[in-house]
Amino acid sequence: MYQLVIGLEVHIQPSTKSKMFCGCNAKYFGSAPNTYTCPVCLGLPGALPVPNKVAIEKCLKLGLALNCKINKQSKFDRKHYFYPDLPKGYQISQYDMPFCYEGFLEIDTDKDAKRIRITRIHMEEDTAKSIHNENETLIDINKSGVPLVELVTEPDFQDIKEVLAFAKRLRQIVRYLDISTADMEKGQMRFELNMSLKKAGDKGLPKYKVEVKNIGSISVLEKVINYEYERQSKILDDGKNPDQETRGLRDLSGKTHSQRKKEVAEDYRYFPEPDIPPINVDDKWLEEIKIQIGELPQDKKYRFIENFKLEPSTAETIISNKNRAQWFEDAIENEKNHETIALFGKWFIRDVLGMAKVDKIKLKDLKFGGKDLLELVQMIRNGELSGTLAKQVLDEMYKTGAKPQEIVEKRGLKLVSDEGELNEIVDRVLRDNSKVLDDINKNPNIIKFLLGQVMKMTKGKADPQKAMKLIESKLSKN
Ligand SMILES: [Zn+2]
Repeated sequence: MYQLVIGLEVHIQPSTKSKMFCGCNAKYFGSAPNTYTCPVCLGLPGALPVPNKVAIEKCLKLGLALNCKINKQSKFDRKHYFYPDLPKGYQISQYDMPFCYEGFLEIDTDKDAKRIRITRIHMEEDTAKSIHNENETLIDINKSGVPLVELVTEPDFQDIKEVLAFAKRLRQIVRYLDISTADMEKGQMRFELNMSLKKAGDKGLPKYKVEVKNIGSISVLEKVINYEYERQSKILDDGKNPDQETRGLRDLSGKTHSQRKKEVAEDYRYFPEPDIPPINVDDKWLEEIKIQIGELPQDKKYRFIENFKLEPSTAETIISNKNRAQWFEDAIENEKNHETIALFGKWFIRDVLGMAKVDKIKLKDLKFGGKDLLELVQMIRNGELSGTLAKQVLDEMYKTGAKPQEIVEKRGLKLVSDEGELNEIVDRVLRDNSKVLDDINKNPNIIKFLLGQVMKMTKGKADPQKAMKLIESKLSKN
């Protein structure tokens, strides 16, 4: 068994109208190739870049939310390398003065909460896109110059669950703060993995590091880590060290292949971008950004557990999306009973979110509101409805938007809890099933069978607890 040593680099495309250094439309995804271009993002000589303020604000917002220090004076740098999809021959990025540095993100592990240190968060521009056909390579410039926020962590992850918890929490934060829609299918959030293995108990970092670039989803990230664990541990088992290299992916299976060996660190010949003056980040600007942050997912989770006494897994499901958390909280704002809230949470997650997921409906487009669901749950708690009947009521609320009370009255779904009426039904069931009563001492399940018969006869409308008591008392008299 080896110990994982993992660091992540995450690229996030902040939602902006225009690109990072020009006025071209940044929402390039799905549009005809080379339709969103200008001299700046084509990299033509003499074109002057102008930084996008909204993109920088989103980068700073993420840094503040992740407890980073902020460079009061920051600058852009040129990172030189040759790629066919990099028309300028350099990328405008940030080198020694990133906007944000030395932060952390807290994640929940099986045991406790853990802090993952964040080395830096900086701003850069995306490259163009190469499209490789059989005999030719085509270039689409639309993606060139689209803003990217790059976040780099320290190699603090020790197991795969921590990586996945971090990736999910980060995506939530980015969405909570409206930094990006983080739609992975559109490449708006991508991961780069730095991974090596060491013997459990070994101090320090391993002597090698494997980089895997361009991982487009959290599920592929998981597969890559599993694949690399197998691959690297086999090499170590043979007494060798895996090569220091960059590896790539061919498909979504998680299998990696060698792209280039890295004997020495690459030299990008960074130097300050001469066409963009240094950027002052003053306290007033930071204050304006801070105000927009609001409650973060982790804090919301703790508050929901504390105030509503929710199970951690229930709280996690509810807070995973800001609108979902708001829907939940609005519904139960006046409910004080924790058991009712717990039952509400169960119906919300299992039934409401379940139905909405099947039909791909957003919560805001449901025909009923959270208060209606609470009313339904209260009817279950008061003994007016059984779970089976409540489900029928909810189905109709979902289809028509009618109020639970109306549905119950119209369809006559109220539970039969009248003693006299129940008495007669139970007597009839006992009479009709007199044969099985002989085995009652041998088979305790017979009581459940009898209750089932009562429910059947009343089409699910008998109050199950009262009916059960009646059956038991009648049987003990026999
Ligand atoms: Zn442009």
